Amino acid sequence: MHTNHPEPADNADRSDTADTVRENEIVIAPEQSPEAWLSFIGLINTPWLERSTCPRQGDHTGPICELVLDQQWVPALDGLAEYEFIEVLYWLHHSRRDLVTQSPRADGRTFGTFALRSPVRPNPIGTSIVKLERIDGNRLYVRGLDCLNGTPLLDIKPDRSLFTPKAAPKTPRPD
Ligand code: SAM
Repeated sequence: MHTNHPEPADNADRSDTADTVRENEIVIAPEQSPEAWLSFIGLINTPWLERSTCPRQGDHTGPICELVLDQQWVPALDGLAEYEFIEVLYWLHHSRRDLVTQSPRADGRTFGTFALRSPVRPNPIGTSIVKLERIDGNRLYVRGLDCLNGTPLLDIKPDRSLFTPKAAPKTPRPD
């Protein structure tokens, strides 16, 4: 069931109005569906304590941020240091999850959630390609993040443009 809420928001920054529904936005009560099981592998330390001061997207010349990995995952870093850029996936834990359309400027013009990189999404996963400065034990120092201090860490991968598959080539399928 879709519900339209026509009240215009008086503040264009979602960070200050996390519970506000803006003009022409559609909010739903998401239907129950099978749930995936996710586990956080650590957390992210950044200089940003409020959403309003977080960058919208990270910058490779931005401040150093720290990925603090749970100790049990440290062996999983083997081989990662050779990559200058890595992909980080994180859980935008303060996001609402029920907007189908969103009005980023709170001006009545909406876009579909899947046409945006907004933190507000059914599964609030954020991704960034970050510059890997160094690894020290369970701590990775990176530049290029855009998340709040304390954001849970979901996964780390080599940047796909730098990555060469380590597995044997797959046999091509016959036509
Ligand atoms: N780079 C990621 C992406 O494209 O998937 C995230 C982009 S999202 C636009 C970044 C914004 O999410 C920040 O500016 C901040 O307003 C918000 N944000 C950051 N950390 C968050 C958190 N832990 N929970 C909810 N919102 C967060």
